[in-house]
Amino acid sequence: MVQSEINSYQKEVVELLKQVIEPTLKNDIVSLGIVRNLRIVDDYVYLRLYIGSHQQQLQTDVQSKLSFLTWCKKTYIQICTIPGVKITLAVSSGKGGVGKSTTAVNIAAALRLQGAKVGILDADIYGPNVPQMLGLGQADIQVINTPRGDKFLPLEVQGIKLMSVGLLVEENRPLAWRGPVLHKIITQFLQDVEWGELDYLLIDLPPGTGDAQITIIQESPVCGVILVTTPQQVAVADVRRNIYMFRQVGVPVLGIVENMSYLICGDCGARTPIFGSGGGEQLAAELQVPLLGQIPIDPDICSGGDAGNPIAISVGEASRRHRTSPASEVFAQIATALNATFSKTSTLS
Ligand code: ADP
Repeated sequence: MVQSEINSYQKEVVELLKQVIEPTLKNDIVSLGIVRNLRIVDDYVYLRLYIGSHQQQLQTDVQSKLSFLTWCKKTYIQICTIPGVKITLAVSSGKGGVGKSTTAVNIAAALRLQGAKVGILDADIYGPNVPQMLGLGQADIQVINTPRGDKFLPLEVQGIKLMSVGLLVEENRPLAWRGPVLHKIITQFLQDVEWGELDYLLIDLPPGTGDAQITIIQESPVCGVILVTTPQQVAVADVRRNIYMFRQVGVPVLGIVENMSYLICGDCGARTPIFGSGGGEQLAAELQVPLLGQIPIDPDICSGGDAGNPIAISVGEASRRHRTSPASEVFAQIATALNATFSKTSTLS
């Protein structure tokens, strides 16, 4: 087959795939990043479908749509899914220290408070600190025997299931995996955890745009990424690179969370944007992604993270008794927005 022929076949396949609509998100599976790794070899079509446990029907839809291809002898569909998990989201940042893990933990906590079944996969191999943020020290990970082989059993803390690379290695040891070993550990980590039934799995990615991030994105059915940044320009430039990476691999960016946006005066309530203002808004406009929320600098976020008591839970629960904080409100709003987007696919509707 000559290249021009492959190109025109490829175009034809993409056109047909664009006619397959994901019923809840009401968008086509190409735009949603559900179909990736499309290849045409001779008269055969190969592709991967990145789907949640509730989206199996899409495989049949794709098969029947591609049966219209007169030249195609067979379509090979590889399913990329995490058993039991409906919606897999990644939380990412251009660089470390901007509050990515804090945001992941608090969004997970806010989703949990709103009734969702939530898990966090702490895949930040350079600084796996989610267990500490949820109040867990070093814990033994159990391996259980299932019909699909031996699996890690996640821990459960504050109603959130948790698995972390930090739990698999000795405390205070730097994680210095590289190349194929890194790839193997990450894929095992993604495939070999027995989550049970989850509405949301949040993956806390390592910061930046290296091999580890790309492997995680390519090996897991991430259906959207939340990017965390601070208002400083340096961080903002890194986030721009990050967004391009996700667009290149075809994963939709759900939006930006601007962390440490302002400081609230304890006396008068005035908001001071000490790291400058407008960075998140500017970036959101330039890259055409929504600004999901702006989180203030709040000492309770830091102490809650250190003490294993995320603000979204401590204040979120207290808010039922009329105590609230701007930060926990932003996390609650982000959770509400995620539920509004995905809820028909979860048990929450
Ligand atoms: P990252 O995952 O991007 O490396 P972390 O979430 O670990 O960053 O946050 C780095 C530090 O900053 C932690 O000590 C955390 O408690 C603190 N922190 C994050 N966001 C805030 C905030 N909005 N207000 C106060 N402290 C924060």
